[in-house]
Amino acid sequence: MMKRFLSLLLVLALAAGLITVSVPALAADNSPDTSAVAYFEVKFHCGCTWNGTGTMIATNAMITAAHNLVCYTHNRGVNTATFYFERDNRKYRTSYNGKFNYHSYADFSRGYESDDDIAYIIFPKDIGSNTGWYASSAESDDDIKWEFCHMIGYNGYKRLYDWEQVEVESSKLISWPASREYREGNQGGPVYYRYEGLEYPVLVAVYITCSNTRAYARRITNNIYSDMERDGAKFN
Ligand SMILES: [Zn+2]
Repeated sequence: MMKRFLSLLLVLALAAGLITVSVPALAADNSPDTSAVAYFEVKFHCGCTWNGTGTMIATNAMITAAHNLVCYTHNRGVNTATFYFERDNRKYRTSYNGKFNYHSYADFSRGYESDDDIAYIIFPKDIGSNTGWYASSAESDDDIKWEFCHMIGYNGYKRLYDWEQVEVESSKLISWPASREYREGNQGGPVYYRYEGLEYPVLVAVYITCSNTRAYARRITNNIYSDMERDGAKFN
């Protein structure tokens, strides 16, 4: 009953233009839960190195935490990066190490700030044709509280955590109880739910950081979709 109610809400919200959902293609033989998620290693212009997790949400676009693309110690952007999809130890299915454009919403000039720790990448190639991609949704406070969400991050390759209810911290942040198991490497990973009958996962937030007791994720907001479309993201 609740699912039907939520589906109805989704349809109504879509009709009202409140939620943006892109419909993804499925990857060849794996669920995009994992195939559309990349582990990546970056080198920033300051010389620092980092690794993180990102998720394809269009054929040519990825979303991740901003601090995976901008060094929050020196506020310098990414110089080079290599993306590995479906990495399992040293094996991976698809990789990319060419050029790309990105947009970061974070300003790290005064150090790390978490509220706008989100960024997207526009690739010059349709990487999503190989990996599939997530649908994505700008959820209202009420809707997101009802979802049973999952998160995937790259500490190895496992789904780290399931939870029944998130807490809405603000228009930009959700949180849930978590421990320090949430280390760097997971950051930028998708926080998503699945609808009965839908073959693809729906991304609602990007995991960004944790305290000793809670994990925090930056919500996907409609302005991010608008900016991505302006910059050439292909939402089919
Ligand atoms: Zn640095």
